[in-house]
Amino acid sequence: MLELLAPGALRFFVTTMGSTSISSLHEASATTVISMSTNHAPGQAVASTSAQPSATSPPVTQDLPEDLLAAGWCKCWSRREKRPYYFNRFTNQSLWEVPTTVQHDSISDPLGLNAAPVGSPRTTDDSAPRKRSSTEEPTAGLKRGRSEDVTPITPVTPAPRICKVTTEAPFASPTSKHKAPLVAFPVFWNLEVPSNVVAREMPPYLLFPPHPEAELCRAQLTARLRQHYQELCQQREGIDAPRESFNRWMLERKVRDRGTDPMLPSDCEPAVSPSMFREILNDIPIRLSRIKHREDAKRQLFKYAEAAKRMIESRNATPDSRKIVKWNVEDTFNWLRKELSATKEDYLERLDHLRQQCGPHLADVAKESVEGICAKLYHLACEYAQRVRSRHLEILRECNLPPDEVDSVTTSCMEERAVPCHPARLRLPEAPLPRVDLHVESEQACLRHRGEVVRVNQNYLAKLEQLYRLNCTDDSRFEKFLPRVWCMLRRYQTMFGLGAHEGLGLHGALPVSVFEALHRHFDVTFECFASPLNCYFAQYCSAFPDTDGYFGSRGTVLDLFPASGSFEVNPPFGEELMNSMVDHFENLLAASTEPLSFVVFVPEWRDPATPALLRMEESCFKRRQLLVLPFEHEYRHGAQHVCRSEELHIRALHGTAILFLQNDAAYARWGPTPERIRALLEAYRPQGRAPQPAGPADGTAGGDEAGGEESTAPSSAGGTTGSIETGGKLSERKESSDDEWV
Ligand code: SAH
Repeated sequence: MLELLAPGALRFFVTTMGSTSISSLHEASATTVISMSTNHAPGQAVASTSAQPSATSPPVTQDLPEDLLAAGWCKCWSRREKRPYYFNRFTNQSLWEVPTTVQHDSISDPLGLNAAPVGSPRTTDDSAPRKRSSTEEPTAGLKRGRSEDVTPITPVTPAPRICKVTTEAPFASPTSKHKAPLVAFPVFWNLEVPSNVVAREMPPYLLFPPHPEAELCRAQLTARLRQHYQELCQQREGIDAPRESFNRWMLERKVRDRGTDPMLPSDCEPAVSPSMFREILNDIPIRLSRIKHREDAKRQLFKYAEAAKRMIESRNATPDSRKIVKWNVEDTFNWLRKELSATKEDYLERLDHLRQQCGPHLADVAKESVEGICAKLYHLACEYAQRVRSRHLEILRECNLPPDEVDSVTTSCMEERAVPCHPARLRLPEAPLPRVDLHVESEQACLRHRGEVVRVNQNYLAKLEQLYRLNCTDDSRFEKFLPRVWCMLRRYQTMFGLGAHEGLGLHGALPVSVFEALHRHFDVTFECFASPLNCYFAQYCSAFPDTDGYFGSRGTVLDLFPASGSFEVNPPFGEELMNSMVDHFENLLAASTEPLSFVVFVPEWRDPATPALLRMEESCFKRRQLLVLPFEHEYRHGAQHVCRSEELHIRALHGTAILFLQNDAAYARWGPTPERIRALLEAYRPQGRAPQPAGPADGTAGGDEAGGEESTAPSSAGGTTGSIETGGKLSERKESSDDEWV
């Protein structure tokens, strides 16, 4: 270990293994030392009294057997109790007693998933291995976890439907001086479900820990990027930037990106994004809006013909293209003049014909300029990502931390051993975090940093507090909690946009009852696509390991390599992301002989069909496929953490396909039997709520302009608004080969 002595009498450690980083210590005196454990949660140091004993701590010798060390155990020293204890860096479990290796029945439970983790103590009255929930009362010999240091503000019983929350937070906040009365809030999660996922050990991410100043810089530059995009589309193509295409562009870019920023793309190929290119072309020469009446259809046909003519005349088209487009446009005008009694269907048919005839020629003339928009945006994003990085380095410098260290930190190789999955960790140094103030306004928690306010409903702040307590290992006093929540909320705001209803379709969630059924009947304990705000389980993958790891994120789904476990999968609907997801799952399923199961929920788009859906339908791992009909099921609002409770459930306008991808071992254990399927579909039935009024959510539903491109403009698995109440019959489609409906 290389020891650095920073000005201000704070001491830091950097491991020479390259597996950890520098971190700051807020709490300690000048002589307090923090040891850097590579496996503690997100890139953080764990204030430890062990590896580097303080003046009062005797040295602790690491005399644990090899198998315990491999299982993540290390010996530490408790200053408070003045005796050694044992800490597991994978599970965050702490014990007073020497952990013991538990034997388990390798036939009925080959991975030992139902056994206590290696090293769990046997209780005196029950020698059989058993799981230990994080909320169990500590029994004799068990050291209390971090919850001892903070006042829990949420109850920790399984599947709570209501939690009692005080506005007094356990973390330092200006409002915490006054103890508010207990308030009951509904909860939409169950953070008590233990994970059954065993995955390849994940190296720490080479990302900076979040900092409000850097986050603000990223937010401002991203807003500028959105603005540039709108201007480029207007100036070059005379159209508005396609709805949500910027958000989908970021999702698509991050599938390929190897750059330094967790959000802004800065190192991916090709520079021209296929998804953005497709979406812009789709709106050329005009964006078609939802057609409700005959007059709408007539007007749109006319507008399309006019715009096509204008475009082909003003651009550099081949004589042939020009001739074909002009001829078709003239033909349409003549038809419009003649057919005065045409119906809506006639107009739609004609519009379709015109698009087919002119589309390829218009795409040819627009191609170069649309590619120019995509490339320009990507290069701006690279420049902005660099600026955010510079801001991070500047912050380190301002705090007298050595920014040069950052360049010498490199990624470590992927570890080959399998471990219980653990929260994402970070590698780069963290600067001290500035103050963030908390106050409550209209039942929402408002977090303010330098006049910039982010909001979250109080029950969700309590959820974040609980996730933080379960996952964050470097901040037992919650001193960094508010700045970290601020950064995470700001990140999602920046990612999904600030417009009314913007981005909602990209992170709608399944109903709680469906999660309950998935857990009860398929032993699902993990969400592949989530955020700290919309997760149901405490273990999940998310888009941003840097902001979300403190709240339990296991990193992005494409970085997770599970060998076993049962997963729920509700991806944001971006073609590239979903395609990469299918590749990833197929590789994982082929590689593992342990039970590995993915229950996937995607919209049933058929016109044209989503490639990822088609591929899953043809997969040799597909065990069963169901269809839940449009209007007969719901999603939870994409902004569930800030919306009003009456807005929470949204009727789906599209059907949802449910696919079970399982290897043989998972099929034997969690196969989709008729009883399980029945229970799952029953859970999908809307729970007697009044339907929500329609309103635009993304490019496929809602307002007048939204629906025309339903078949081509991607939407999300996360649902859109809908308002039609129907009988609530749920349908199931069997294996696609027989295409049978029951
Ligand atoms: N967890 C809920 C909601 C899913 S919405 C459910 O399963 O029903 C899709 C979520 O995927 C969003 O929160 C989005 O932020 C997240 N996401 C986007 N890209 C991701 C990635 N690469 N890995 C994991 N999650 C991702």
